[in-house]
Amino acid sequence: MQLYNTLSAEERAIMIDDAGKQRLTLSFYAYAKIQDPKKFRDDLFLAWNALDALGRIYVATEGINAQMSIPEENLEAFRATLEVYDFMKGIRLNEAVEHDDHSFLKLTIKVRDKIVADGLNDETFDVTDIGVHLKAKEFNDILDDPNTIVVDFRNHYESEVGHFKNAITPDVETFRESLPIINEQLQNHKEDKNLVMYCTGGIRCEKASAYFKHQGFKNVYQLEGGIINYAKQIEAEGLESKFIGKNFVFDNRLGERITDDIISQCHQCGKPCDNHTNCENDGCHLLFIQCDECKAAMENCCSTECLDIIHMPLVDQVRLRTGKQVGNKVFRKGKSDSLKFKHSGELANTSLATAEKPLDIRQKIKVKKVLLGKAEHYYVKAQVGLFTIENHELNTGDKILISGPTTGNQELILEKMIVNEAQATTAKIGDRVTFEVPFRIRLSDKLYKIVN
Ligand SMILES: [Zn+2]
Ligand SMILES: [Zn+2]
Repeated sequence: MQLYNTLSAEERAIMIDDAGKQRLTLSFYAYAKIQDPKKFRDDLFLAWNALDALGRIYVATEGINAQMSIPEENLEAFRATLEVYDFMKGIRLNEAVEHDDHSFLKLTIKVRDKIVADGLNDETFDVTDIGVHLKAKEFNDILDDPNTIVVDFRNHYESEVGHFKNAITPDVETFRESLPIINEQLQNHKEDKNLVMYCTGGIRCEKASAYFKHQGFKNVYQLEGGIINYAKQIEAEGLESKFIGKNFVFDNRLGERITDDIISQCHQCGKPCDNHTNCENDGCHLLFIQCDECKAAMENCCSTECLDIIHMPLVDQVRLRTGKQVGNKVFRKGKSDSLKFKHSGELANTSLATAEKPLDIRQKIKVKKVLLGKAEHYYVKAQVGLFTIENHELNTGDKILISGPTTGNQELILEKMIVNEAQATTAKIGDRVTFEVPFRIRLSDKLYKIVN
């Protein structure tokens, strides 16, 4: 019984491209009483692995928090695996605004003490006495009320690229830090103001709202389904977006655009930019904002120090890391003295630039290729390869890629081919094809068609 990943991220990325199927990125959470989280975890892994579902999921005795990527065609089957559990019947799945087939490349389900690290002692207050849930329209309305204080319960690197206008954006790295800060800052408004809170998908507000009610706040509201769900409703109902910029997300996309306003700057040159990246130096891995020009000039590094390090031989890089507390940078997400244009704490509500029309998400994947079949034989004297077509079709004039561990990646244009022993211009599934190859191919090398 396979209960863990057996493929690397790279292998998974290739498999996803080969399958050529559209995937959905979605998230959901549920608070519940789970008796045996370990068994719950294993059952989910088996059910979801069979559906080619990927993602990062936390389970605990208090419930489940999941961010996932699922083949579109398996969505109903996936829903069925949730319906097995009473507490997930009819659960809302927050679908991403932009989908990327590579948003997750592994299925990781971890058993934790809690599904959100909130630092709260749940025994001390009633976690079920939560705030009023608001839909997008209601949320917009309450933001217009002068008695409303709106608080962003995300971290500084999330609110920097996008937030609700006039929101309080605490300068914190973790959710647990923000709770006492807000409690302190708003202590004189516990009865006269509406405390309105939001986060990425709603989960952080769920328990925070109960905490603030316990702290004496009388009017506590939360954005149902978070920014992800708000964006969906804004679009579906044609409402004004009071959120500006980008919604930071915790998968390989690192953000989805909600409005075309760019409200942050490249941390290195100050140019308007809201693309997060991780420093290329594995010993640093700092999360920061970098424009394309700085990315090219700095080779994706956060500082000249890191740039020097990535040019060292790997052994020296590892030696530098051992015994040294570089962890400081890793955990201080997005803060470093070398980043001059980093903003946190109070953030402006102004747009610095307008984002260009987002590229088709598919164009972001460098080479889009479709698996056609595999090599069966190589005739050394004639320098000809024999391939079987198992998928799609092959036409003369196609740009093809032959790929394998020894062959590497070899691209060529197919000029002439023999299909089932006669010259032809098209080969279909089941056909055996031979053509000249200017290099020696290996048995089982894969044949791809490049489609863009
Ligand atoms: Zn820059
Ligand atoms: Zn760095």
